[in-house]
Amino acid sequence: MKAAVIEEFNNIVMKEVLEPELGYDEALIKVEYAGICGTDVHIYQGHHKQAKPPLIPGHEFVGRLVKVNTDKHVNLKIGQRVVAQPLTGCGKCELCIQGRDNVCVDLNIFGIHSNGCFAEYIKVPLRKVYSVPEDIDPKIVALVEPLAVAMHDVRRSNLDVGQTVLIIGGGPIGILIAMVAKLNGASKVVISEINEKRIKFAEDMNMRFEMINPLKDDVDSKINKLTNNMGFDVVYEVSGVQAGADLMTKAAKIGGTIMMVGIPSKSHTVDTGAVTLKELKMEGVRIHAQINFAAAVDVISKNIFNDKLKRLITDEFDIENVKEAMEFSIKDKDHFKVLLKMN
Ligand SMILES: [Zn+2]
Ligand SMILES: [Zn+2]
Repeated sequence: MKAAVIEEFNNIVMKEVLEPELGYDEALIKVEYAGICGTDVHIYQGHHKQAKPPLIPGHEFVGRLVKVNTDKHVNLKIGQRVVAQPLTGCGKCELCIQGRDNVCVDLNIFGIHSNGCFAEYIKVPLRKVYSVPEDIDPKIVALVEPLAVAMHDVRRSNLDVGQTVLIIGGGPIGILIAMVAKLNGASKVVISEINEKRIKFAEDMNMRFEMINPLKDDVDSKINKLTNNMGFDVVYEVSGVQAGADLMTKAAKIGGTIMMVGIPSKSHTVDTGAVTLKELKMEGVRIHAQINFAAAVDVISKNIFNDKLKRLITDEFDIENVKEAMEFSIKDKDHFKVLLKMN
């Protein structure tokens, strides 16, 4: 089969590789579209600690079910359009038993720890496969994985109807969290972002997001104005930079919640005094749990805000031009989701 292989850092090539062989209870999926995630770019550049070449990257995809290897009854039809949660845990540890295989010590994420979806075919455990309706645009279905990340983040924050939200970092995950927060009944969703094009993009979503640009605005007075001097109920730190860590403790209200979403390249300083004095709750969130992947499949299958989701797809490349797509993702600072089309 054809696959995009990172042979060494900063070099990804299309080549013929062996089609994956199915183990028991596994499914083979023919990939239609794959999304490029920031993680894929980090792997390509050699900035990811766990991913080692040669590797087929990619963990966001939609495709068609080609075959299954099982003698159990499965609720899937060959040829059907499907998505799959791109990770497995050991299935036995305390966290896996709690449904938290996204933080299993033996976590295997496709496209990071093992081969991913920038290929003609990918094999996945059957229990991770979900069918999606034929009449939903497959490009939107390719967004299930990043939507699942945002849903995981919002659900774990226990965001309640009428609460106020600040999202630090208005990239693809930041915008998705903003959208899910609105869907969850947040009364005010504010995004802090420094890229003017991304600010404009968020405003053009017409979802009544309010914007803070820390390079231009007086952040303190803007937060006070937006929250009646209270601060935000929930702050999602998505930027992964020190300025974001500084802002999160300042912007959260007394008794508020901070969700740590962005993965920093090195650990940041946190104002622990503010955490204590304001009785802040801080929680890390990683990828998504399967229950939230399933929920994201449902949200897209039921067309709840697919017209808004579609706007996130800003660029598309053929898989043959995967190197160009990776280089574009590094250089262009304004894009949201770049899709690869498998031919
Ligand atoms: Zn991703
Ligand atoms: Zn486990």
